[in-house]
Amino acid sequence: MLIGGPSFWFTELGGTPRRRPRLPGGVDCDVAIVGAGYTGLWTAYYLKRADPSLRVIVLEREFAGYGASGRNGGWLAGAVAGMHDDATVAAIRATVDEVGRVAAAEHIDCAFHRGGALAVATGPTQLERLREHPLAHGGQWLEPAQLHERVRIAGALGAVYDPDVARIQPAALVRGLAVAVERLGVPIYEGTPATAIEPRVVRTPFGDVRAARIVRATEGYTADLPGLKRLLLPLRSTIVVTAPLPDDVWAAIGWENAETIADAALSYAYIQRTADGRIAIGGRGRPYYFRSGSDRYGEVENWAVRRLTAKLHELWPATRDVPIAQAWSGVFGALRDWTPMVAFDPATGIGWAGGWVGEGVAAANLGGRILCDLVRGESSDLTRLPMVNRPAPRKWEPEPLRLLASHGVYWVIDQADRQEAETGRASRLYDLAKLVSGREAE
Ligand SMILES: Cc1cc2nc3c(=O)[nH]c(=O)nc-3n(C[C@H](O)[C@H](O)[C@H](O)COP(=O)(O)OP(=O)(O)OC[C@H]3O[C@@H](n4cnc5c(N)ncnc54)[C@H](O)[C@@H]3O)c2cc1C
Repeated sequence: MLIGGPSFWFTELGGTPRRRPRLPGGVDCDVAIVGAGYTGLWTAYYLKRADPSLRVIVLEREFAGYGASGRNGGWLAGAVAGMHDDATVAAIRATVDEVGRVAAAEHIDCAFHRGGALAVATGPTQLERLREHPLAHGGQWLEPAQLHERVRIAGALGAVYDPDVARIQPAALVRGLAVAVERLGVPIYEGTPATAIEPRVVRTPFGDVRAARIVRATEGYTADLPGLKRLLLPLRSTIVVTAPLPDDVWAAIGWENAETIADAALSYAYIQRTADGRIAIGGRGRPYYFRSGSDRYGEVENWAVRRLTAKLHELWPATRDVPIAQAWSGVFGALRDWTPMVAFDPATGIGWAGGWVGEGVAAANLGGRILCDLVRGESSDLTRLPMVNRPAPRKWEPEPLRLLASHGVYWVIDQADRQEAETGRASRLYDLAKLVSGREAE
């Protein structure tokens, strides 16, 4: 089994990509974007489409897609964490098709498949939770027999089907997007860290970038920048992917429509059937590194691999003999109120978007389109969404509280799951986890 790497998605594309050249020296431009993940690249894409005369450049510390954008679970979901107002819901649901549209128009082969998503209950308390909130999931209730026609999951008691979700190959999307952006005339300088972002200037070891406008799209790595240590908490998530399943195992499972799947445990797992017939299942590993340390090239703890593999076997006992091919981790960013924001300050010329938590694949496209309008000084339906220029939440606690709280919350959630499985009743511990984390919105 391959560990880290930074993800199977890049392995599938031939390995870690060769880096583009770094910044050749100091430059002037109209818009400098820091970070070549979905947020930065979508912003560059829409800016150049809107105004081809703009001189836009992208600075990337590693390579395009190195962060969460090249490592995620590939759920292109019509949801923004913590934002349930009608305007945001309509905008993000339309975003699923927008990503599919651009991928087709730009010939990005990212295994886009709009199969919807299933949230599946495998215990009585999970069932209660799902039944209470079927509309919150924007979906349709499926009884076990109806679910069985789609996919056979051991012990499933029911599910909610949400049609507004597509499955993608994450690294293929970010890599294709980088190429599309370059085609529009945007240079992407890789191996080029921004060491400071100041009004109208980005500092790098290779020279200053002077720009009228600057977009910070550094998400789970933002804490490395001066003055931003406690804005976004870098939270880790871990994924394992199997070898391709033999035909008889697929025959036992069904799942022909390749919906994305999540279980309804509190420490939920997110799952996709890959285009080449594997199962990728993601969930918790170690949640956080001391002092907001961000990433160690996708490293994974053995216990996290064991835990995710056990979950896989629990849901689909027929996969027991299928080897795990690769495991990796990544970081996403969370603001203190667990709700994303997009901001632009005309006085400094600095904008940013992030805090997508674990729901940034579609949301980063929406964020990119919002930033495009904000940077160009245009007012639109998108710039009026509640996440735009909202008051920033308070900062995360200083250490060691951040470490204790993040590890503590996940420990409590695990205990709550265990209690629920043992007793069949809702655990009060979950309320405690919500209280400690401040995560009321979900
Ligand atoms: C394991 C995992 C699974 C996930 N699964 C899903 C999912 O299924 N569905 C979903 O919707 N969301 C999911 N997410 C979240 C989603 O992937 C992210 O929200 C999204 O990719 C964020 O994109 P981004 O461009 O904002 O950040 P990133 O993709 O992290 O990009 C930030 C980039 O900035 C670069 N950078 C950072 N600092 C600097 C600097 N100082 N100078 C220059 N460059 C810098 C980094 O190298 C990186 O390439 C998952 C996240 C993880 C980690």
